[in-house]
Amino acid sequence: MHQKAAASMAEGVFPADDLPDVDICVVGAGPVGASLACRLGRAGLTVAVLDRAELAGMEHPDLDGRAYAIAAGPKAFLEEAGVWDALPRPSCPIEDILVTDGRPGEPASSLFLEFRREDAGQPFGWMIEAQALRVALNACLEATPGITVLAPVEASITRRADGARVSLSDGRAFGAKLIVAADGRRSRLREEAGIGLTRLPYGQTAIVCAIAHEFPHDNSALEHFLPAGPFAQLPMCGTEEHPHMSAIVWSEKDGTAERFAALSDKVFARQIESRMGTERLGRVTPVGRRWTYPLSAQYAQRYTDTRMLLVGDAAHGIHPIAGQGLNLGYRDIIQLVPLLIEAHAKGKDVGSAELLANYQARCRPANMLMLAATDVLDRLFSNDNPVLRLARDLGIAGVNRIPPLRRAFVRHAMGL
Ligand SMILES: Cc1cc2nc3c(=O)[nH]c(=O)nc-3n(C[C@H](O)[C@H](O)[C@H](O)COP(=O)(O)OP(=O)(O)OC[C@H]3O[C@@H](n4cnc5c(N)ncnc54)[C@H](O)[C@@H]3O)c2cc1C
Repeated sequence: MHQKAAASMAEGVFPADDLPDVDICVVGAGPVGASLACRLGRAGLTVAVLDRAELAGMEHPDLDGRAYAIAAGPKAFLEEAGVWDALPRPSCPIEDILVTDGRPGEPASSLFLEFRREDAGQPFGWMIEAQALRVALNACLEATPGITVLAPVEASITRRADGARVSLSDGRAFGAKLIVAADGRRSRLREEAGIGLTRLPYGQTAIVCAIAHEFPHDNSALEHFLPAGPFAQLPMCGTEEHPHMSAIVWSEKDGTAERFAALSDKVFARQIESRMGTERLGRVTPVGRRWTYPLSAQYAQRYTDTRMLLVGDAAHGIHPIAGQGLNLGYRDIIQLVPLLIEAHAKGKDVGSAELLANYQARCRPANMLMLAATDVLDRLFSNDNPVLRLARDLGIAGVNRIPPLRRAFVRHAMGL
């Protein structure tokens, strides 16, 4: 920190700043932080967004192989934030979801659950590549008035009851009424605030890649539960070279996943076919790189501290079994934005203790429920115990036979 800054803070007064003060400072320009900034900028708040990484560099296709299944609620939020229309490629709707249980190389159990388009009245979600979302976010951050992007930069932040002060590694500084920690799973701000974290390792790693297949997917997704972990196929928009394409998220035990990911294209394709079968989509060809991501769930003991709140993965991380991780982060900001816009419009303090408490009460209980549900799903399905196998197959088939229950599952997963 500057000597000038340290001296005046000792006297209890924030020093004069080199950059204009803002309403909100968002630390972390990942999908949650950047989307929040775009939405708030559109609503007339002044926002600074910081990231330790360079944002343009995040657009590189080799950086992230993920494709997100965005639910209806978060899609509407991205539309309001101006991000959806800036996507460089069309998104693929998910209109049917087939849930099955089995073992590699064996046909899926005959008891299964199918969420159909008539259960929802609209798609269950839309598939967008992480890289396409990044391009759209960067364009919106640049185009939205009221947003200052500061990246790459490290910041040291001092928070007090009457405001926060952000000192950048390049020597500049500014004040903010509220700090939003959107700095991901290893959030430094969460740690510095002394907010406890509970972590639940799964001993699983996800292999993520794209595949081309012989037959069209007809916008349908597959969640196939296997003893080592769930295997998901998610429909993607095709290209001229590969008209029928899907994303794969395939969870395996740690160690095994890396071995599978390193197989030749031919052997890797056969392994996928032995899990997914060839009846629906035909023969498979891997496309592009493969990525591996170790899986764990985690949750912060609280979401707030003086003049600061946590959003997205900084607050919670869940198993990708239901493809809900980013959607959960979007639900945080869907709850937060109206509170901030209302306080700002009424000339109230956007960083008040009351607003922070209100935010936590709106988000944390529902997030804990989703974390528990995905945790139980993974533990129930990722094993070969014959009793559990029968119980879960009966459960899957039972839900399938009761349309109102099926629709309730669907509404929850869509964030409606
Ligand atoms: C295999 C896999 C598949 C997934 N699939 C899905 C899916 O289908 N659907 C879904 O909804 N979710 C999915 N997820 C979850 C999703 O990827 C995360 O929930 C999402 O990336 C969280 O976004 P975020 O903005 O909160 O954090 P992040 O994406 O982690 O972004 C954090 C940002 O903060 C920056 N940062 C970190 N520390 C600092 C610091 N000290 N100072 C400044 N900046 C900092 C980082 O550079 C980064 O830009 C998946 C996850 C995995 C692992």
